[in-house]
Amino acid sequence: MPQRYFSQSPLAGDRALLAGPEAHHLVHVMRAGPGDRVVLFDGSGAEFDALVERPGRNEVELRLTARREVDRELDVEITLGVALPKGDRQRWLVEKAVELGVGRLVPLATERSVAQPVEQALDRLRRTVIEASKQCGRNRLMEIGPSQKLADYVAAPDPGSLRLLAHPPPHPESDPGQAPRPNRGAYLAVGPEGGFTDHEVATAAAAGWQLVDLGPRTLRVETAALVLVTLAARRSPA
Ligand code: SAH
Repeated sequence: MPQRYFSQSPLAGDRALLAGPEAHHLVHVMRAGPGDRVVLFDGSGAEFDALVERPGRNEVELRLTARREVDRELDVEITLGVALPKGDRQRWLVEKAVELGVGRLVPLATERSVAQPVEQALDRLRRTVIEASKQCGRNRLMEIGPSQKLADYVAAPDPGSLRLLAHPPPHPESDPGQAPRPNRGAYLAVGPEGGFTDHEVATAAAAGWQLVDLGPRTLRVETAALVLVTLAARRSPA
């Protein structure tokens, strides 16, 4: 597969201009020259074959030769609410969520979580989203944020959606496989290292969320998130 590059501006017509980190990657890291073939995407769902025409110091001019709608999204639209861990583990989680097809990631402010990233830090994570999308072939960008309080997050979704909150027992077990087939939306919630409080779990359960046990081991936030995403991705919408 040819190298993929992300265009910040929507692609149309037969010309494209890459700037910033994408131009740097193409010219200085990959050492592209005139006539080299690449694939461009702009997050709209399509991808484009392109020929490098003028690789400049800060900008690269390309000619678009074909446009394709290529859908590599899941059947279910997954929103992943998660109390983000810090540093590398946070970036790792964002990268894997993109690879697994999550549509939107909402940093959750919970009673026991550390502060969730502010807008500037979310912007850095959005760069991680682009890098992961280049690598895995997604043509739509996973959205990130804004951060939400758990109580607001669990109150928002339509009750026809699959809504799963990961929490170790004891709690009344609900088998996600037994629930009626959800509409296209699935909403997930994963707590911080300290876990959700009883009050938070009760709030979600009262709003109709299913509580999901992921087994007798305590999983890291990022592991629990990926398992829950995988469970939800396997439920095809009604
Ligand atoms: N110390 C906490 C564990 C937190 S693990 C406690 O004892 O409850 C971080 C988050 O990952 C949890 O809030 C939960 O959402 C999820 N998680 C981890 N292991 C899990 C398991 N075995 N079953 C369900 N959820 C789990």
